[in-house]
Amino acid sequence: MSESTSGFAALNLHADVLAALNAVGYEEPSPIQAQAIPVILEGHDVIGQAQTGTGKTAAFALPLLSRLNASANTPQALVLVPTRELAIQVATAFEKYASKMRGVKVLAMYGGAPMGPQLKALRMGAQVIVATPGRLCDHLRRDSSLLNGVQQLVLDEADEMLKLGFMDDLEVIFQAMPAARQSVLFSATLPASIKAIAEKHLKQPKHIKIAAKTQTVSRIEQAHVMVHADQKPAVVLRLLEVEAFDALIGFVRTKQATVDMADMLIKNGYRAAALNGDIAQAMREQVVDKLRKGSLDIVIATDVAARGLDVPRITHVLNIDMPYDPESYVHRIGRTGRAGRDGRALLLATPRERRMLQVIERVTNQPVPAMALPGADAVREARLLRLLEQLQPLSEKAEDHRGAVRDELCKRLQCDTATLAAMLLSRMTANQAFTDAELKAEQPGQPQAGGARPERKRNDRNDRPERGERAPRGERSNDRGERGERPRRQREEEAYVPTPGSVRVRIGVGRRDGVQPKNLLGAILNEGGLGKDQVGRITLRDTFSLVELPEQGLAQILDRLKETRVAGKPLKMRRYRED
Ligand code: AMP
Repeated sequence: MSESTSGFAALNLHADVLAALNAVGYEEPSPIQAQAIPVILEGHDVIGQAQTGTGKTAAFALPLLSRLNASANTPQALVLVPTRELAIQVATAFEKYASKMRGVKVLAMYGGAPMGPQLKALRMGAQVIVATPGRLCDHLRRDSSLLNGVQQLVLDEADEMLKLGFMDDLEVIFQAMPAARQSVLFSATLPASIKAIAEKHLKQPKHIKIAAKTQTVSRIEQAHVMVHADQKPAVVLRLLEVEAFDALIGFVRTKQATVDMADMLIKNGYRAAALNGDIAQAMREQVVDKLRKGSLDIVIATDVAARGLDVPRITHVLNIDMPYDPESYVHRIGRTGRAGRDGRALLLATPRERRMLQVIERVTNQPVPAMALPGADAVREARLLRLLEQLQPLSEKAEDHRGAVRDELCKRLQCDTATLAAMLLSRMTANQAFTDAELKAEQPGQPQAGGARPERKRNDRNDRPERGERAPRGERSNDRGERGERPRRQREEEAYVPTPGSVRVRIGVGRRDGVQPKNLLGAILNEGGLGKDQVGRITLRDTFSLVELPEQGLAQILDRLKETRVAGKPLKMRRYRED
């Protein structure tokens, strides 16, 4: 085990769970985890007050898995969640944390999907069920003994479940479970209705809440950008284009993310490095030293690795992943504004993390206002300024020193000085994250203020309640299937941020042809000779679809897919350009 997982090691978790944590790269428990895990492991009932982004899922999943009897193949742990998306997300988290445990199976049960596969999976056996209350009740009607062996129950986002009208279903489920069980309730808020449930169904629960001390933040200008998780790399690149930073520190949650993000930045021409607990101390010191001396400009770090980092050159802190609590936010942004200088702190927040953002604002007693993601014009202007900055000092002496070389180059290349200048410019800007063509394709001022993608009003999370919704249309689509085509399309366009190195390709079949994103993905992977990670977002429209494909080698890819048909129709793929 790595030295850096030792925070978890002290918590008495199952060795296989610890091994999985090491594999996913968590460095240390978040505050809610540090408090909740020992109490849940001891078997107490718990009321935890925590919102999304605090690491609450692992706070209950890790101790639950540690107490599981993997050799018994019947449902022992039940997690109830308000929505289908959360069910999938929590089940995926359980699978991740159980990846080193032999024979542990996790089953997600939610509405809007056929019962058949869920019933089949049940028959195959699963120790952990993650369910929405409505669908679980449907299953209970078929088999009232389904929950007879449940020893641990979690109500996740209990306030949301009540808001969505699941009270009656919850009562049915409580009745179907043994009274002698452990119950854990997590909720962002604790209204009277939640307290009543706790009173009735929990036994001497221990209360867990992260106390938020007021923190002061000075001389640091703060702002946030709303993004969806998959857009973060593109958004980071865009911010770096326009923010005039000297040195910058970016914070992410996992060791892997430090490496991925730093690699991505290096590929885009930045002098960047990762800093995490797995990197040997001597090496870490070297990274910090380079940052201090100016031979590195960007460090992507976890909270643990950046502890105590004091480099006056840091003008910007970029919170790429949300911190777990306001205290760590304040610690993070305190890396800038050192030695009496001004600093700037930017925060990328996903729609589900909105509540955490509010908590940060409340505790720091300062707004963290929304900022518009810089549009094409701003990027172009910033690039020009950078080039000017680089070239200006050379303008006087260039003639004396390089005139002869310039003339010789023009002669040998058989070009004029303007062409030579263009060639040198393209060399100087070769590593730019956004090609000029991509910038031109973007409407001025887009992506729009306040976010890289439009937000949904009803729910904090990017999902819908399970009731009354239609069957899922496909996982990789932007499609929410609930509003008109035009507004949705407009919103998608406004929100679109290209993935670096990718372009959008139009496919001549759409929703009306009965295709789903997975059909298109399958065809492109099979016939196009691409790896899964080379195919980006697939967006279905009524009469056509869009897919992100690598720009490099695009002509060959399209050529390979020339004859391919989906739903009996040719794909007719071509590069997509909005006009
Ligand atoms: P949650 O609040 O449960 O929705 O978790 C928010 C995010 O934090 C998820 O993407 C988790 O994978 C991540 N996460 C949870 N605990 C840790 C940890 N101790 N270290 C790093 N990342 C974590």
